Amino acid sequence: MEYEVGNIVKLKKKHPCGSFEWEILRTGADFRLKCTGCGHQVMVPRRLVEKNTRGICPSPKATGNGKIP
Ligand SMILES: [Zn+2]
Repeated sequence: MEYEVGNIVKLKKKHPCGSFEWEILRTGADFRLKCTGCGHQVMVPRRLVEKNTRGICPSPKATGNGKIP
C-alpha cells in the first residue's frame, strides 16, 4: 500500500462525525490525518493506518498517474 500526501484514505473505523475518509497531511513513522468530515487532525502510527485502511483515493489534484486502486 502506498501512501502519499494529499491522498484520501478510507479507514475501517468511523470518526464520531460519521466520516470514514481522511486526508493525508504528512507521512513517516507517524501519519498526520485530517478528517474530511469535520477537519479534525490526528497523529496515527503508520502501522495502525495500514491495518485500518480499506482503500486509498488519489487526491483530485494528484490524478493522472494511471493508478486505479
Ligand atoms: Zn470527523
